[in-house]
Amino acid sequence: MYSTLSASSCHLLSRRSSSDGGSRASCSLQFWTCHRQCEEALTATSYGSFGASAAIARGSERMGGFPKLGLDEKHGACLLLGGRGGKLPRMFERARVGEHLLQNGNRKKNNATIRAILQWNRRPQMAGSPPRVVVVTSGKGGVGKTTTTANIGMCLARLDFKVVAIDADVGLRNLDLLLGLENRVNYTAIEVLNGECRLDQALIRDKRWVNFELLCINKPRYKMPLGFGGKALTWLVDALKKRPEGTPDFILIDCPAGIDAGFITAITPANEAIVVTTPDITSLRDADRVTGLLECDGIKDIKMVVNRVRSDMIKQEDMMSVLDVQEMLGLPLLGVIPEDADVIKSTNRGYPLVLKKPPTLAGLALEQAAWRLVEQDSMKAVLIEEAPAKRGFLPFFGG
Ligand code: ADP
Ligand code: MG
Repeated sequence: MYSTLSASSCHLLSRRSSSDGGSRASCSLQFWTCHRQCEEALTATSYGSFGASAAIARGSERMGGFPKLGLDEKHGACLLLGGRGGKLPRMFERARVGEHLLQNGNRKKNNATIRAILQWNRRPQMAGSPPRVVVVTSGKGGVGKTTTTANIGMCLARLDFKVVAIDADVGLRNLDLLLGLENRVNYTAIEVLNGECRLDQALIRDKRWVNFELLCINKPRYKMPLGFGGKALTWLVDALKKRPEGTPDFILIDCPAGIDAGFITAITPANEAIVVTTPDITSLRDADRVTGLLECDGIKDIKMVVNRVRSDMIKQEDMMSVLDVQEMLGLPLLGVIPEDADVIKSTNRGYPLVLKKPPTLAGLALEQAAWRLVEQDSMKAVLIEEAPAKRGFLPFFGG
């Protein structure tokens, strides 16, 4: 199993020596966050061909035989240990899943294969005061900015936050496509600025999650209109803040590629940034440059999402590990998104991956990133480890 570790949850987990099944890392952990019904979480665990079953690790309280469950009071979480056979108690079906951990557990003792930390009816605690204006940028094109904006935005809306996503990629607008809202764009921000319509007419409310709204700057294939710049976008953001319906909790700005006028416009109203990068040298160099520009612009809160990670390639040393990326960019890590064909399918269907049932690994990773964004948490370490082949585990992602 290939795995990632959130340092924030380290204390919940036992460290294993590298001789215990692991070749490189000392921990064998897969840590994801999601916010779903427990049932779905277990579907997700079985996605990794582990089989969905659970027994509980700590503070155990028996719930009518196997499996057991325990509450971690500090985290409001349940820690589940996977085993063979057994069904989840009904109460879990109502549980909201927060943090979701998959681990190749203590195989010798109890055949445990899966661990999941479930948040117990917990909503992430908003750090910082709303509205948080977050720009999603990268420098390089095609690394996953729009995918990240659409999915994190949807997750935040599902977590009950009011979200407005602004597609500031004026020339190559495609956030509406990813969200499946392209047929509903009648008015754009340009008409609002020209006084041809009201702001709420240009805001497209998602039918799946009504607290998610999309604002496009311009009609597709139109160039950036003359005079549209940072000031105009700041005016729009201020107008969103003053809406009678209430201030949104998050304003996400999908930034165009490059570092020219469109980029400068997109970052002007932002006070936080998510830098999306893939683990390749061109994308990293651009991300580094963009980070410098963001800092010059006074944006201090910058986190990164490492997208399209392939563990099989990392294992063969054909791809940089996430730790390498972290060392190179020196940014706090918001999420690690595996390369996943489902991302492309969801893009083509106009259905954000995080809404997919059963959830996919990339979807769970994006959901985890959304949680971290809300709580201003970040991963501090990511470890990769090889699965013991004889158990027949499939590689977790990329395999
Ligand atoms: P950007 O907005 O940075 O130009 P996009 O979000 O539009 O990038 O993504 C570019 C392409 O990459 C899309 O076709 C998308 O489906 C694909 N993609 C993004 N992330 C992943 C991933 N984790 N796995 C597979 N494909 C991905
Ligand atoms: Mg884009």
